Amino acid sequence: MDPREEAPDVDRLARAMLLLHGGHDDDEHSHDSSAGSTLKARSFGGERSAALREATQRDRDRYLRSGLVSVDCRFCHVAVEVKKLGPAHTSVQWSTEATRRCAYFAEIRDSGGDPAREKGCPRLADSIKHAVAEGCLEEISSAPSPGDG
Ligand SMILES: [Zn+2]
Repeated sequence: MDPREEAPDVDRLARAMLLLHGGHDDDEHSHDSSAGSTLKARSFGGERSAALREATQRDRDRYLRSGLVSVDCRFCHVAVEVKKLGPAHTSVQWSTEATRRCAYFAEIRDSGGDPAREKGCPRLADSIKHAVAEGCLEEISSAPSPGDG
C-alpha cells in the first residue's frame, strides 16, 4: 500500500505535486493521482467536521462569556439571572424588582421576616432545576472539578 494514502496531508500533497511536475519518477504518476482523489474526499469530510466543531466552540464561548441565563420563576413569574458554577453551586442574581415581586419573599415580608436573609425562593430553585434538566443552563466549566467537597 502506498504510505501516501495512509496519512495524506498538505505537505505530502505538495511533494507529490512537485514529483508530478518534475516528472522525476514516472512510476509515481498513477499512485499520485489515486492518492490525490483520496485526499480530496478526506479533506472534504474534515472541513465539515471542522465547521461543526467551530459552531460548537462558538456556542460554548457564548455560554462561557455570559454564563448568565435568565430563568423565570414558574410560581411568581419573576425573572432572575442564574449562573451555574457546578453541580451543587448555582449563583442567582436577584434584581431589586424580582425580590420585590417574588411571592415567596412578599410572604416573608408580610409575616415580618427579612427576605434578604433567605437563600432564595424555593419555587425558583425548582424552576432552575427544570432549566438545567432542559439544557437551558450550561455549567461553567472553569469551576474546580466536582468531588473535592
Ligand atoms: Zn419566587
